[in-house]
Amino acid sequence: MRSETPRSPGSPGSPGEKHSGTATLSADVCVVGGGPGGRALALALTRLGCDVVLLEKRDPARGTGPAFRGESVSPDGVRLLAALGAWERVREAAHRVDRLEIEDAGHRVLDVRFADFPYRYRHPVELAQPTLLAALAELTGPQPGACTVLEPATAVGLLVEGPAVTGVRASTPAGTVRVHAALTVGADGRYSAVRRLSGLAERARQMPLERDVVWLKLPFPVGWDRRAYRVRIVGSSHGLFLPSTDGTVRVGLNIPKGGLRALRAGGLDQLRARLAQLAPQTDQSVRAGVRSWSDTVLLDIFTTDVPRWSAPGVVLIGDAAHTLSPVLGQGVNHALADAVELAPLVAEALSRDRQARGRALGTALHLFQHRREPDVRRSRALQLRQERMFTLTSPAATALRRTLYRALDASPALRRRVLAPAYFPGHALLRESARAEEATPA
Ligand SMILES: Cc1cc2nc3c(=O)[nH]c(=O)nc-3n(C[C@H](O)[C@H](O)[C@H](O)COP(=O)(O)OP(=O)(O)OC[C@H]3O[C@@H](n4cnc5c(N)ncnc54)[C@H](O)[C@@H]3O)c2cc1C
Repeated sequence: MRSETPRSPGSPGSPGEKHSGTATLSADVCVVGGGPGGRALALALTRLGCDVVLLEKRDPARGTGPAFRGESVSPDGVRLLAALGAWERVREAAHRVDRLEIEDAGHRVLDVRFADFPYRYRHPVELAQPTLLAALAELTGPQPGACTVLEPATAVGLLVEGPAVTGVRASTPAGTVRVHAALTVGADGRYSAVRRLSGLAERARQMPLERDVVWLKLPFPVGWDRRAYRVRIVGSSHGLFLPSTDGTVRVGLNIPKGGLRALRAGGLDQLRARLAQLAPQTDQSVRAGVRSWSDTVLLDIFTTDVPRWSAPGVVLIGDAAHTLSPVLGQGVNHALADAVELAPLVAEALSRDRQARGRALGTALHLFQHRREPDVRRSRALQLRQERMFTLTSPAATALRRTLYRALDASPALRRRVLAPAYFPGHALLRESARAEEATPA
């Protein structure tokens, strides 16, 4: 990816040059946020010949961010990476997952085998987010459009002319940068500044879920299948155990909303006991892997429903438009899907002459939300149903939960109906001729 030091107009800077005060850049599109959504959009737009400036607030010198986030990529995410030409590049580094297994009160109640689904890309994978982001960035370099990446650069204000957003003001270590663009994209995640600054947050509803999640990594327990996702439920307590690319198991332990303080007050022994209750096989790993609270990360679980994803000159994608819960690993997938859907609509609108461009862009942004929202709603509804199932407490309700999982386990048709909207929303059914040559992920 071409990366430039910002330049003041009329003063061509050289790489590494320091500036103070205000510098100005212009591009077709300014993307705020270099997560999966922002990087995928930059790639898709530059492929279509658009010039992009991407702003990312994290300092690359300090690493690529939390080690826990966004590692599970659903089969639909794999399909989208293939569509972006990125799958072959990350395939070697991805860890294929074959099964999803749910145990409730010590009994296996559901065992889903992804190979049974009749789609081209059937398997979810674990993929470290830095690997994914680096691959998307590398692919963006040689495209017809140019991409200028400023990092660290934090969007702190929007440029506005009349009713339209016309760019972004960003703060960088070298000073302020103003980026003028026909379209500004808020790909800046669950606490999106663009959403707030553009007024699109005003009618947004943030819905806290009943649980928060404590994430941690453990040495992989002896005897466990490395190609399985595990959900363990005991009463109203549950945890996710996901194989990680670094050979560890990534654990998402659910705790009551705001319950971290109580958990901490009980000390690490209480955390270890909770994990051992859910998965006794992790006992040794927990002792070896959880030595201090700094080995854990808390994820505040909420979903955000933003009624309008765009206003003149600005649009939101990914978590900024629709924060989801971590159940069934949907966030990365939807961020990628937004990028793939939005890019051609925007490129087409920007190819119009100057007079027609504003109206064409407005239509494109409405069409984008119209096309993407039904999938997002389906995923959110499925996640909320699943969350409710996990948090049932009464003996009658938990018995019913087990019965439902067993019914699902017994019926491939029902399994497909329930899980396909989450894992395979954009998949076409695999034709028999294509089945034999399915590209089996790493
Ligand atoms: C602990 C944890 C575990 C998760 N596990 C999974 C999982 O297994 N599978 C899954 O699919 N999803 C998971 N998610 C959710 C997933 O990470 C997100 O849904 C996904 O990354 C959304 O992509 P995005 O590009 O929309 O936003 P993000 O990945 O959040 O990227 C936004 C980017 O914008 C940058 N940014 C923010 N504000 C500004 C600003 N003002 N200026 C410039 N840059 C800015 C941020 O630094 C960040 O790089 C997890 C999340 C967490 C926190």
